[in-house]
Amino acid sequence: MKRLSRLFNVFIFCALCLSANAQSASFVPLMEGANQLGAQLFWDSLSGIGVLEKNGHSIQFKAEDQIALFDYRTFEIVDAPKIVNGSVFVSNNFLTRMEDFFDSSKPITQDSLFKIGAILIDPGHGGKDSGAVGKHTVNGKVMQIYEKDVVLKVAEDLYRRLKTSYSDKKIHMTRTDDTFLSLEERVEIANNTPLGEHEAILYISIHANSAFDKKASGFEVWYLSPGYRRTILSEDAADKEILPILNSMLEEEFTTESILIAKFILDGMNAEIGKESANRGLKEEEWFVVRNANMPSVLIEIGFVSNQKEALLLTDDKYLHKIASGIYNGLVSFITHFEQSRGFTSGQ
Ligand SMILES: [Zn+2]
Repeated sequence: MKRLSRLFNVFIFCALCLSANAQSASFVPLMEGANQLGAQLFWDSLSGIGVLEKNGHSIQFKAEDQIALFDYRTFEIVDAPKIVNGSVFVSNNFLTRMEDFFDSSKPITQDSLFKIGAILIDPGHGGKDSGAVGKHTVNGKVMQIYEKDVVLKVAEDLYRRLKTSYSDKKIHMTRTDDTFLSLEERVEIANNTPLGEHEAILYISIHANSAFDKKASGFEVWYLSPGYRRTILSEDAADKEILPILNSMLEEEFTTESILIAKFILDGMNAEIGKESANRGLKEEEWFVVRNANMPSVLIEIGFVSNQKEALLLTDDKYLHKIASGIYNGLVSFITHFEQSRGFTSGQ
């Protein structure tokens, strides 16, 4: 899909922008351009996406891509920023357009900046669906551990902490007891959470792992695969010909945010339980729940119920409390970061 949108890009370049680009545009380093504009630059080298901000207004753009997104609302075709020897360069035409936009836009107040409006915690499984089941014989006694139970405990703990710290945000859970919910129902709850005009929602799915290999153990955090593309923009949002490109751009934005949340949560968990459990790192996958929720989202695997040592840890409320603390601390770091930079890492 990525390759497809590149081809599309070339097509638009040929059809629409040849004359504009033929004028030998001179290029300056992006950082220098940002200084000229008096704008703040956020650059994410992982996705190649940058944001320029001034007076509360923003322009989002992507290296080697001719689409720029103004105030997360309108799109324009601009000179594609170029990457030369690992550095980003923008043309003078590009800078002139950015300058016009910032000059003609009224300053925005603090209230209209994007904020995390809601966090939806999704404990996996429930009811007739136990999720992973661990069966172990400890000191001659058989013990059983169900994924649906341990993830609910962690989710409840996390919910209480977030509710206390963020009275201004909506904190929700997909289930609060041992109820069965289909994946479609979970996605529906996520997509139907009401949000204010400048609010984003985070989706945090909590699961426990199981493997045939009884030695497998540890925790991991999954985020949406960048290879997957959703249709986020409605049909009337823009010219149909460029919709695939625009969609891929917004998708990249959500992916970047999902990777950042995943990273912060993993670090938070590592600080709490890293000595007792193995850190299996960040993972990338097309989870159903995650990919159908139109929001930055992650899926956390808190440990293996199939591993005896870890199963024992997961039946200890103190250990589950540490897991919840780790996730909570990761989320707090992400929210602080997001609300300061709208999800983009600064510098370059
Ligand atoms: Zn699960």
